[in-house]
Amino acid sequence: MQEQRQQLLDISRQLYSLGLNRGTSGNVSVRVDGDNGQPGFLITPSGMSAEQMSADDMVWMDFSANCSGRRQPSSEWRFHLDILQHRPKINAVIHTHSMYATTLSTFRRDIPPFHYMIALAGGDTIRCAPYALFGSQLLSDHALAALYDRKACLLANHGMIAIGETLEKTLRITEEVETLCEQYLHALQIGEPHLLTHEEMQEVQDKFKGYGDWATKS
Ligand code: 13P
Ligand code: ZN
Repeated sequence: MQEQRQQLLDISRQLYSLGLNRGTSGNVSVRVDGDNGQPGFLITPSGMSAEQMSADDMVWMDFSANCSGRRQPSSEWRFHLDILQHRPKINAVIHTHSMYATTLSTFRRDIPPFHYMIALAGGDTIRCAPYALFGSQLLSDHALAALYDRKACLLANHGMIAIGETLEKTLRITEEVETLCEQYLHALQIGEPHLLTHEEMQEVQDKFKGYGDWATKS
């Protein structure tokens, strides 16, 4: 488990150095069994920046929300728990308040297929989950629904969530979603961009099946 604690710290620091999270915004989790083999996950502590955290600050939780660790788990443990419980192929969850995703989330709109890379999140759109208070069960319910058949979603007036098979793959999805949000915001400065059709997006999904990590459905 020490290795995964360190991985969680490394990813949190990368999110900071890539400018995807600042201060205490955002959180990360990774699926890992407990010392006695109980299913669960490690999650970043609440209210600490990536610079302040050490590997020993990561909190282990089981799927009944029992915690072990010297810190409080992230206030968003509910959606981390619900995603890891309901999506068996997903092993990592990254939440950010990154600039462009968060700015777009205030419009409470799904991101349409204005660019073929939208397909990396698993469909024709990246959904925006309705607003709910941070840390609430309602936010988790909304996030889980918005992530149905997808690997990323926006959270209205809040930020984004990306999910994947490993922390590294999930970091790449996070970066791509942030780039797409930046591009979409630029496009909206000029007007409404042309959108790809469902058939065109389907073609991309098919081509992604042989392209890097993007294709794997979860
Ligand atoms: P935590 O510091 O509790 O992880 O909260 C940060 C956050 O992004 C809440 O939505
Ligand atoms: Zn947040």
